[in-house]
Amino acid sequence: MVRPNQEQQLRLEELRQGVVSLLGTLDSFVSTDTGELLTVPLGLLRKSATQRHGVTRWLRLEDGTLEVEVVELHPRLFEEPWCDYGAFVLFHEFLHVLGFRAHNSVFRALESQWPNRSAAGMGKAFTQAMRLGRARWLWYCPSCKESYPRQRKSNGKFQCRTCRKLLQDRPVQDAQ
Ligand SMILES: [Zn+2]
Ligand SMILES: [Zn+2]
Repeated sequence: MVRPNQEQQLRLEELRQGVVSLLGTLDSFVSTDTGELLTVPLGLLRKSATQRHGVTRWLRLEDGTLEVEVVELHPRLFEEPWCDYGAFVLFHEFLHVLGFRAHNSVFRALESQWPNRSAAGMGKAFTQAMRLGRARWLWYCPSCKESYPRQRKSNGKFQCRTCRKLLQDRPVQDAQ
């Protein structure tokens, strides 16, 4: 785990307070004990993470039960335009902390109660932005003009998701 600096620690606590108080206003959680959410340790993912935006890590105790070790968030979630999405990611992780461990239909139904729906839909854009920040190559589709930011060249091995055309490599500097 990456240790948050003082400012990040402050942001994490602000986010925690915001998410817990909003959660208390949602119908499904009025009778939920949210006490654990106020004390669960919060940490950070590496800023190089792209696919993972938050994670709940578990410890297995000697008697076999699981206990939450830490909830980690991507550090870029404290920067605009991602702050609202950061609250949704923390909400998602808090559902895990509350005991909904699998991404099943019950989990998805609870998750869909988060009121800021546009923030909840920012996951793909966040992944794309994190990839672009690290990308040295754009895998470019000559057919639909889509480009996929990546750290490595595609070397003629990958197809466009949409049109199945072979992607071409372009250095990021050329594309900007
Ligand atoms: Zn999850
Ligand atoms: Zn295409």
